[in-house]
Amino acid sequence: MNKQNILIVIAPALLLTVLCLPLAASAWGGAAVGDNPFFSAYGTPFDTPPFDRIQLAHFKPAVLEGMKRQQAEIDAIVASLKAPTFENTVVALDSSGQMLGEVGNIFYSLLSAATSQEMQDLASELAPLLSAHQDNIALNEKLFARVKAVHDRRARLKLDDVQRYLLENTYKGFVRSGALLDAERKERLREINREHSLLALKFSDNVLAETNSSFIVIDSKDDLAGLPDGVVAEAAETAKAMNMDGKWVFTAQKTSWIPFLQYSPRRDLRQALFACFFMRGDRDNDKDNKAVLQRLMVLRQERARLLGYATPADYYIEPRMAGTPARVDAFLRQLWTPALARARAERGEMQKIIDQEGGGFRIEPWDWWHYAEKLRKAKYDLDDSALRPYFMLENVQQGMFTLAERLWGLRFVERKDIPVYHPDVRVAEVRDRDGSLLGILYMDFFPRDNKQGGAWSGAFRGTFYRDGKRVVPFATLVGNFTKPTPGTPSLLSLDEVSTSFHEFGHALNTLFTDSRYRSNFAPQDSVELPSQMMEHWVLEPEMLKLYARHYQTGEVIPAELVEKIRNSSLFNQGFETVEFLASCFLDMAWHQLESALNVNVTRFEKQVMDGIGLIPEILPRWKSTYFTHIHGGYEAGYYSYIWSEQLDCDAFEAFKETSLFDRRTAESFRRNILARLGTEDAMTLYKRFRGREPRIEPLLKKRGLL
Ligand SMILES: [Zn+2]
Repeated sequence: MNKQNILIVIAPALLLTVLCLPLAASAWGGAAVGDNPFFSAYGTPFDTPPFDRIQLAHFKPAVLEGMKRQQAEIDAIVASLKAPTFENTVVALDSSGQMLGEVGNIFYSLLSAATSQEMQDLASELAPLLSAHQDNIALNEKLFARVKAVHDRRARLKLDDVQRYLLENTYKGFVRSGALLDAERKERLREINREHSLLALKFSDNVLAETNSSFIVIDSKDDLAGLPDGVVAEAAETAKAMNMDGKWVFTAQKTSWIPFLQYSPRRDLRQALFACFFMRGDRDNDKDNKAVLQRLMVLRQERARLLGYATPADYYIEPRMAGTPARVDAFLRQLWTPALARARAERGEMQKIIDQEGGGFRIEPWDWWHYAEKLRKAKYDLDDSALRPYFMLENVQQGMFTLAERLWGLRFVERKDIPVYHPDVRVAEVRDRDGSLLGILYMDFFPRDNKQGGAWSGAFRGTFYRDGKRVVPFATLVGNFTKPTPGTPSLLSLDEVSTSFHEFGHALNTLFTDSRYRSNFAPQDSVELPSQMMEHWVLEPEMLKLYARHYQTGEVIPAELVEKIRNSSLFNQGFETVEFLASCFLDMAWHQLESALNVNVTRFEKQVMDGIGLIPEILPRWKSTYFTHIHGGYEAGYYSYIWSEQLDCDAFEAFKETSLFDRRTAESFRRNILARLGTEDAMTLYKRFRGREPRIEPLLKKRGLL
């Protein structure tokens, strides 16, 4: 997962990444701010955040002051009597809001990694203030007039690629927010945005309510046959929490839902639980999302038309790497045909098991997980607990560092004198090959009850240049990995190993970024390239030798175990890919509609699925009535994940063509991608690295579709 979104909370309307540095005490000191550390120089090593002194009460005054200062900076740009230039307008806007960015990055990072009810309350209190602040910038007509004046003269300005990209994206940010519209249309756009944000919230609230109220209750032990003890114990806990002591509850949460579908031999119960998931938002009750979805689409269509786009998909995809809906569709279709063929073959294998067992029925969607699990056991016999001893956390971490050392000559030196927000957090200074400081890396690996689930990477501060000198970034790597217990160190699952390499890739991207300006416009369909790239090394035998050693014996993971893992990685990929792609097509179809006014949600979805020839044994992973991604930042963007995967699979081939630790390839990947992503056109950067556009074959191969 990528949490770089915490870097752009300050001005997403403009797509500005506002990242900051601490301000000198003398300028803003005084009795009114007391001992608030945000109002003076930190006095810490490298100016890292003074976590030992930051208290909750410090955030609000600092955010308010940050907004005030940025507004003053904007006012100064607008009030200038000098003719607008690239420097006095576009660069000045880019460098505005330093304090707000700094405080915001720290606040939103902690809101995920070390939260509290008070912090969440403060976040709700700040949200409308920040969004009004953003609107004040995005809708500032005089500011836009100056940006437009610079943009109109762009051909004569002799800008380099990075400057042109900054100007183009800054201008586009305003235009896409409606800056070119007349007053009446602007007002209509504001109305649309207001209604849209409320409805999007309602959509996700409905899904949450439906998820919480969708479950099956089991009251006889006989009905639990086949389920592993851990799964049964969890179901008992869930029942207890719902005041149904002595019973077992299975829910529409995937952690409960999937094990039941995998292990329960009871078709009737599987079918009942299956419906809990797939009927959410589609029960014609007060939480039904069909009308909500339809209205959301109507609003998006009107907004797209207002802004001069034929459909919402055209609007959303324009700033991304794919560029046009047609290109996304073509990409998805290239994957679809082989994936569907693979899924049909998998269906055949499972039907064979059913027939051999004398089942006497045709496989249905609620049977798939169950027979896939049987097939997996029979074919691969791979046990997660046999792998863990080879993946002790300290070894995995050292493995990531060694990889960065082999590829780029980096050195990671632990620092004990840098303040942290929790004793679990470890800090390393990262030194470049020539010994210079590249940045600081904070690592926070273990679950806590004040930490969000999952894993992510972000930053307390991004990088930029001040007076010609690079200000170093402070990257974070946060996870919820298996904890050590008395007598046993932290032993990771294979999944956790991949996750830590993944987040390490995001962190390297942050550390390597070398940009004159603060703004970063990395397109959504490119941000998983640096992270997914690093996952490719995890299972390479040459790499495993460097880190996958048994925590007791020191023995390198046996080759036959590695072979088993590699073979099983292709298992059920037809299903996984088809289920995922079906949702991509659904997303694209909704956003390519010109009018949703008279659309029947159920019929439309069926028509789209029939159109791509989806087999009835598989449903899209997310159906229309609970597809929260496409109302929460991934509008016409669910494809982004697999688009990025095409890039990282193709990029990794560059190492396969040379060698796994090839320094020249690594250097080129760093210079063209890791250091530059978000500061120049992403496809141009990719072509500079690879010498051509990405090819789809490596992705097809990785998923066993070739
Ligand atoms: Zn990610």
